Amino acid sequence: MRGSSHLAIGLITGVGIAAVVPDVRLSLPGIALTGFSALAPDLDHPNSRLSKRMGFMQNYVRWAFAAAAALLGVYAYLNLPPGPNQRVAFTAALSMFLIGMAMQNQSARKLALLFTGVAAVLAGLYWQFLWLSLLGAFVAAAPFTSHRSFTHTIWAAALWTYIGYLANKDLGWHGVAAYAGAGYMSHLLADTLTKSGVRYFLPLSDTSLKVPIISTGSATGNVIELGICAGYGLLVAILWWQRYNLT
Ligand SMILES: [Zn+2]
Repeated sequence: MRGSSHLAIGLITGVGIAAVVPDVRLSLPGIALTGFSALAPDLDHPNSRLSKRMGFMQNYVRWAFAAAAALLGVYAYLNLPPGPNQRVAFTAALSMFLIGMAMQNQSARKLALLFTGVAAVLAGLYWQFLWLSLLGAFVAAAPFTSHRSFTHTIWAAALWTYIGYLANKDLGWHGVAAYAGAGYMSHLLADTLTKSGVRYFLPLSDTSLKVPIISTGSATGNVIELGICAGYGLLVAILWWQRYNLT
């Protein structure tokens, strides 16, 4: 499945989660987090769809992310008193930088992810944010695993959700675990619809679960992906409509 479809399905999932989980409020950062989580499993291949298929994203977008991250970091350092707000600002700056790096379309990407990941691990240790260290470790290690292996398992999805849960507790951003977990799972479920399927239980079992209705990259495959996104969007719209009618 193409990265743009994963992103679309992730964003729709974010809107859907807010409709079905009672105490999760619909929020833009939440939806963005779900979209990011839906792309995270494909950090496992260096020329990933996350970068390659987002070819429309020009280089300058990446540099804009990096520049904005640097500005935010400097601003937080100079103008915010040390404390929760400053930490949140630093975290946001780091996340923006991560996203910028993930868009990179070069072999240096693997290395950049490694360094960014290690920096996040250290920052997490410094601020005693376990979730930030775990997130850093995930981002640093994922590009070095083979494609559709570790990052495409229920263990990785559980780890990602746990990271969200810890971030939720530390930062008080409610719903982080739900948004992150749902986004990640949406990727695995979407990949299940492709020919190679997903080996959910590696290394315990090598069995690949699949409902192979999409061949990625083919014209028919693209149409089916589009259809799935449209149908899924409609479903979530209905969920919202129902909720609106009930309350
Ligand atoms: Zn994938």
